[in-house]
Amino acid sequence: MSFNPALELQKIMNLSPFDGVNPVISDSATFVFSKSDVMTDTFEGKTEGCFLYSRHWNPTNMLLANALAAMEGAESGWVTGSGMSAITSTILQICNTGDHIISANTTYGGTYAFFSNYLPAKFNIEVSFVNITDLEAVKKEIRPNTKIIFTESMTNPLLQISDLPSLSEIAKKNNLKLVVDNTFTPMMVSPLKLGADVVVYSLTKYINGKNDCVAGAICGSEEFVNSLIDVNNGTAMLLGPVLDPPRAASILKNLHTLHIRMQKHSFNAAFIAQKFKDSGININYPGLQDHPGHKLLGEIMNPDYGFGGMIAIDLETTDKASDLMTCMQEKGVGYLAVSLGYFKTLFSNSGTSTSSEVPIEEQKKMGLSEGLVRFSVGLDMDIELTWKNIEACLKKLKMI
Ligand code: PLP
Repeated sequence: MSFNPALELQKIMNLSPFDGVNPVISDSATFVFSKSDVMTDTFEGKTEGCFLYSRHWNPTNMLLANALAAMEGAESGWVTGSGMSAITSTILQICNTGDHIISANTTYGGTYAFFSNYLPAKFNIEVSFVNITDLEAVKKEIRPNTKIIFTESMTNPLLQISDLPSLSEIAKKNNLKLVVDNTFTPMMVSPLKLGADVVVYSLTKYINGKNDCVAGAICGSEEFVNSLIDVNNGTAMLLGPVLDPPRAASILKNLHTLHIRMQKHSFNAAFIAQKFKDSGININYPGLQDHPGHKLLGEIMNPDYGFGGMIAIDLETTDKASDLMTCMQEKGVGYLAVSLGYFKTLFSNSGTSTSSEVPIEEQKKMGLSEGLVRFSVGLDMDIELTWKNIEACLKKLKMI
């Protein structure tokens, strides 16, 4: 049988003292040792199951990290205070000054800014941005000092699908690490099973699903995770982007409903996408057969979770995008807000918000229209009613 992330999660039991169905939260920054030599051994990474300090490991964070690792089919995981810190810690752990990275040109704007501004200026690490669906272009960018191919399984905001098995083949052949941000497609896509070396997440989005906190995660080999928290050289240990344990406990509870939420997000997004298409609106949804990545996603995704909850429409101008979003918010379709994976529908104009870090010229080059409205479709019970409200706005604004 193929890998099923939800089944892997189902096997996770977190039984704890006092018989609560949810684990006891470990509300401590530091931990007691019975003897000083055990403490010394722990600092030297020689002990198993000993906690020394919560910036390194905390039992509650470990429960969430273990659950995420199981879901990814990873040896190990570590949880961070944000998706950005998961990305930045991973990159800085793998790369040294003077190294080079190949990245998808359509990524989350924060990642783009870290790559295009921060890394070159602070660390002399250069990043080449490519159309990640063009495998020849990826190969052409490989240099002797290249260390990483970075992509998002489904890119933000253009919803391109990364061919992870082929990218992994290229990475392996050239001794590079394939690092994949799977924020848009948890459970749907299992990057490590498709050959990635490290998978990173913004847990802020689908995995937590409540928009009540910012958090992130890194999953990969035990060796890699241990290197991140090495007391002498570990980026996570030394830069300290640790997740607060009570938050980890809260996210762990939400993780166990992720499979149901992903199915409903996908169902509702597919419904709205088809309606946009039938109305003649320029719609981008990987679940539609004419999407360039539809076949590929069908081949690499896990069955049962659909084609995801993200859709994008192109209204050509920011003014039109703004008018539609204002109307939709007034009609109760959802909120004009950045972020995604929330139970309510969220929409934003990507070029002026979550991709505003990408210079306009680059936006044009990658095909990001100024009128692009990205939707994270919510868990609405009556999605036909939601469409009726969207349609009313489209008609009022003479867009259809
Ligand atoms: N990766 C993707 C694909 C995102 O969309 C975002 C945020 O929008 C991030 C990473 C950053 O995550 P966070 O806001 O949790 O730091």
